[in-house]
Amino acid sequence: MTSIDPALLDRFAAIVGEAHALRAEADTSPYGQEPRGLWTGRTPLVLKPGSVDEVSRILALATETRTPVVPQGGNTGLVGGQVPHAAANEIVVSLSRLNRVREIDPLSNTVTVEAGVVLEALHRAIDAADRMFPLSLASQGSCQIGGNLSSNAGGTAVLAYGNTRELCLGVEVVLPTGEVFDDLRKLKKDNTGYDLKNLFVGAEGTLGIITAAVLKIFPKPRGREVGWAGVASPEAALALFGVATELAGSNLTGFELIGKTPLDFSLRFTDNAVPPLSGEWPWHVLIEISSGRSPEDARSLIETILTEGIEKGFAGDAAIAESLAHANAFWALRENISEAQKPEGASIKHDISVPVASVPEFIARAAVAVEAVSPGARVVCFGHMGDGNLHYNISQPVGADPKAFLDLYRPMNKAVHDIVRDLNGSISAEHGIGQLKRDELLATAPAVGIDLMRRVKAAFDPAGIMNPGKVL
Ligand SMILES: Cc1cc2nc3c(=O)[nH]c(=O)nc-3n(C[C@H](O)[C@H](O)[C@H](O)COP(=O)(O)OP(=O)(O)OC[C@H]3O[C@@H](n4cnc5c(N)ncnc54)[C@H](O)[C@@H]3O)c2cc1C
Repeated sequence: MTSIDPALLDRFAAIVGEAHALRAEADTSPYGQEPRGLWTGRTPLVLKPGSVDEVSRILALATETRTPVVPQGGNTGLVGGQVPHAAANEIVVSLSRLNRVREIDPLSNTVTVEAGVVLEALHRAIDAADRMFPLSLASQGSCQIGGNLSSNAGGTAVLAYGNTRELCLGVEVVLPTGEVFDDLRKLKKDNTGYDLKNLFVGAEGTLGIITAAVLKIFPKPRGREVGWAGVASPEAALALFGVATELAGSNLTGFELIGKTPLDFSLRFTDNAVPPLSGEWPWHVLIEISSGRSPEDARSLIETILTEGIEKGFAGDAAIAESLAHANAFWALRENISEAQKPEGASIKHDISVPVASVPEFIARAAVAVEAVSPGARVVCFGHMGDGNLHYNISQPVGADPKAFLDLYRPMNKAVHDIVRDLNGSISAEHGIGQLKRDELLATAPAVGIDLMRRVKAAFDPAGIMNPGKVL
């Protein structure tokens, strides 16, 4: 099954001990399956190191013997970066046993956390310390901090707090040679040469294995309000966004755009779902406000934004959640969209960003392009409008043959991504490159940029053992 010498597999397994080295196909196969079922990888060995020293010895041996290694966190990545290739010639290193919160420092507002801590578990630990960690994703019950950092995850709070890169102050990384780069510093200000940590954040496991990080935490907001507005068009949503940013500034912690089609899918899919508004609207906006001052301050802000939005004609109707359960129900309609697409048949997905002001133009042009590629295809457009990041997904026409629709994957991608490039946007806003977008990145990114990335890769990983075939 594998071209890796069994004696070498034994040497790797001895580093972590047999109890933490999986070899049977039934045990290793889940590490080759990813959430969308787009790739099926295979590996002869999954290693679960329990210390930084074990990770270091694994990578030193991998470089010495030129054995490729695939780091894996919670295995929720959507671009195939965390799964081995089908040839079964790579070893998977799972970080799940490095799962300690090493220190919470409420005065510096930092947490020092190991790579294998599950995001939701970190939320609980930080909550118990009367602080909050803002990174929030629908996969937070499984994804791990090392994976969040390596994919520079975005999510719903980027608008106010930035993506994972902005939340990271320091890293501890094992390099492919086995050396440990200990840069676990809590500094907000540090101008001492190149910012090396930022090369590892977003590297998708191609430069080394992150074993721990120092992350920013924040005082809990004292007031939080969630509102829903029906709008006539993406232009109206953009105008409402202008009102919200002017009035709320950094208190605006969420601004999500949702088309009618994804809302209908989500309402059909979600148990006991109630439409947020009584009328029909072609577009919807979910707004979240957080206040460090008081619940009344948050309430007054959201009321002012929605009232002004309606008075100026940007919003047609609006509702404010009347309880935490009501607010969670609004968010569930947004969060359930991806899952709600599954019963609607085959889909082709895009994770794009454009300048915020170009969102309406992108949506208008992309709708025409999609119709030309697949007449009747349903546009499932939703996402973090305040970040210019849309999940521009396309569901097959009703009653169409799923396979025939999926055969349109490349022309559909090209049609959508050509518009993104024309608007100076990004073909991967928050999910990364992995295997999914590697060829397109190499074919379309500026040659100098790709050459620089290759030089960085060669400098860090001269033997080419770290997650080969991903990103580059
Ligand atoms: C339902 C759902 C919703 C999602 N929503 C969002 C969203 O809103 N925003 C968003 O950005 N993403 C989202 N994702 C994608 C995914 O959850 C994130 O990319 C997440 O950050 C990946 O974490 P993970 O631990 O699962 O990493 P994995 O999938 O295991 O790995 C991801 C990449 O990081 C590398 N890696 C993992 N751990 C390490 C490490 N310790 N050191 C070095 N490299 C490592 C892997 O090799 C791989 O290339 C979603 C996924 C799902 C299934």
